[in-house]
Amino acid sequence: MRRAIAARPIPTHRQADMRPSALNPLFASVETLTGLGEKTAKPLARLLGREPRVLDVLFHLPSGIVDRRQRPKIADAQPGGVVTVEVTVEEHHPAPRNRPRAPYRVVVTDGTGWITLIFFGTNRTYVERSLPVGAKRWISGRLELYEATLQMVHPDKILDEAGMSRLPPVEPVYPLVEGVTQNLIGRATRGAVERIPELPEWLDPNLVASRHWPAFRDALRHLHHPRQPEDALPESPARHRLAYDELLSGQLALSLVRAHMRRQHGRSSAGDGHIVRRLEDVLPFRLTSSQQHAIHDIRGDLAKPERMLRLLQGDVGSGKTVVALLAMASVVEAGRQAALMAPTEILARQHLKTIRPLAEAAGLRVAILTGREKGKERETLLAAIAAGTVDVLLGTHALFQESVAFKDLAFAVVDEQHRFGVHQRLALAAKGEAVDVLVMTATPIPRTLVLTYFGDMDVSALHEKPAGRQPIDTRIVSNERLDEVIEGLRRQLETGARVYWVCPLVSESELVDAAAAEERFRDLDHHFQGQVALVHGKMKGSEKDAVMARFAAGEVRILVATTVIEVGVDVPEANIIVIEHAERFGLAQLHQLRGRVGRGAAKSTCLLVYKSPLGETAEARLKIMRETEDGFRIAEEDLRLRGEGELLGTRQSGLPGTRLAGVEIYSELLEAARKEATLLLDRDPGLTGPRGAALRTLLHLFEREEAAKLLRAG
Ligand code: ADP
Ligand code: MG
Repeated sequence: MRRAIAARPIPTHRQADMRPSALNPLFASVETLTGLGEKTAKPLARLLGREPRVLDVLFHLPSGIVDRRQRPKIADAQPGGVVTVEVTVEEHHPAPRNRPRAPYRVVVTDGTGWITLIFFGTNRTYVERSLPVGAKRWISGRLELYEATLQMVHPDKILDEAGMSRLPPVEPVYPLVEGVTQNLIGRATRGAVERIPELPEWLDPNLVASRHWPAFRDALRHLHHPRQPEDALPESPARHRLAYDELLSGQLALSLVRAHMRRQHGRSSAGDGHIVRRLEDVLPFRLTSSQQHAIHDIRGDLAKPERMLRLLQGDVGSGKTVVALLAMASVVEAGRQAALMAPTEILARQHLKTIRPLAEAAGLRVAILTGREKGKERETLLAAIAAGTVDVLLGTHALFQESVAFKDLAFAVVDEQHRFGVHQRLALAAKGEAVDVLVMTATPIPRTLVLTYFGDMDVSALHEKPAGRQPIDTRIVSNERLDEVIEGLRRQLETGARVYWVCPLVSESELVDAAAAEERFRDLDHHFQGQVALVHGKMKGSEKDAVMARFAAGEVRILVATTVIEVGVDVPEANIIVIEHAERFGLAQLHQLRGRVGRGAAKSTCLLVYKSPLGETAEARLKIMRETEDGFRIAEEDLRLRGEGELLGTRQSGLPGTRLAGVEIYSELLEAARKEATLLLDRDPGLTGPRGAALRTLLHLFEREEAAKLLRAG
């Protein structure tokens, strides 16, 4: 097969991993769209991610539509929905002089009834000019019934007859964030739709025909410029088509990675057990039997001449780190190096703290490499890694930077996998010869999803928790009772409690979240002077560590944090966790957070503080947290209530996730995409055939560059 590919004149290396130029308009900055400048692009970044591109605008699909073809008489209009009515302006009631904050009201009528238009803080001249008394106008917006009066607060549209004739009858409605209006996103999409190039069809023509799917370009057009309300529904052919495109690109990428892994030969890297035995002697506890099982499986894999690709699943606190350490020790016995990659600086240092004393007592040389090691120190470290005088290297994604070269890396452990993308895993594995890979995750992932997200991996699971753990007392409290919570803390602190206080992600912006945490910090510090510290994502690594260290040492007793503490942090003395706005977190995330306590001998409490009123689903979700500590059960319920993408946190993970494929339509298409990807690569492993070129475009469209690169590796 390899020879067959090499013999063809195309693709050259460059063609396989370079983005086809046809896609360039889609990858241009949104600032290049007409009517959008640097200033308007800024708020868009909050909605679409850093440095948004035309593509990001197009993939930000509407969440609904407004059907302005519904033009009832006022007497027949239903409050609660968006209506479009033709009216005559009757009266103006500006805010009284002594109450400048009161709204400006305008009464309009169509002879069958009245609507009061309400404007808060709107420029007075604007209201007077756009709604002169006696004029005929079309107004459109959400109609509400307030104290027996029909009202419309800030109508979406105020148009005369000419304006009305230009209004599209069906308009998309987009999800928004603060600072971005429907008008702005509408303007951006109108420009973006113009830019969609005509692309070759990558899907099977029979599939497209049998499902009545539009072409890629038409699908995006239909969604952003719906001709009828049905176009925008989740089950519309356009949405199905785009979802399938995305899923197929993801499945193709995974299959390519899998095939690539399988093609490489492995090496046997298991030692004689002398370091492992020494480690076992210095461990302050006995391994649980699932830990022993997992270590046995991993060592078995390491000894085999094939490459290992194994997933270690274990709930928070189940003791995955020790398993990793013992596995790494086996590799070192065989004269090779091992690396452990953590998703955050805090976690990497945490691992160092746990691992170093044990490892050094057993004669292993351990080092850490993150973005923080700099200058001379970094150079010395890099030299030691290259010379092989470092046995076990811990770190963050800094580990797979180009400057890092190992003498002989044989084993890579990737902790908390769902934070990393497939390509990062590959990059680390590429640092050595036939590197064995162990992926560790605390998100209990149902088996079917393991296959989909991680490919064909062997799985070890830690089902039991280390002995001596007490159940966590979980309570649900309204934010209206925050004062009582604080008083309760006061009593607990007197008996020696150590407290995490978690502030939620209020916005997509770390800056705003940090500000919220700072405010809570000031508030608590006022109550408990000198006993409170703050840690958030905007702080420097060294600052974060210093704060964590003070909390771990008991110098401060309350740690106010944003979700930076979510993964892996281990302070066994911490026994209370307060989670504010608990209703905003995913269950898996709450479970992770709660796992920060209940690690020591003391009885632990988790307070889930919600903002009332609490919706029905939100209440059901929080109740599950109260009922169980079983991560697998929580994962299943989370999956049922929220869907797969959220469970795995695909938004930040870069996994083959779903920007376009909503949960409603996901599972049916996923299986089809998986089968098709396998079939396609069986027939044409290098994607060199006629459909291959189009499929490569698809890979680039969904930014699976890393997978596309593997094509050239044949
Ligand atoms: P996680 O699986 O969440 O990464 P860790 O590896 O951080 O869990 O382990 C949690 C805590 O449990 C650590 O303090 C660790 O030292 C301790 N631990 C691990 N295994 C055992 C065991 N068999 N018995 C007692 N404590 C253990
Ligand atoms: Mg861990």
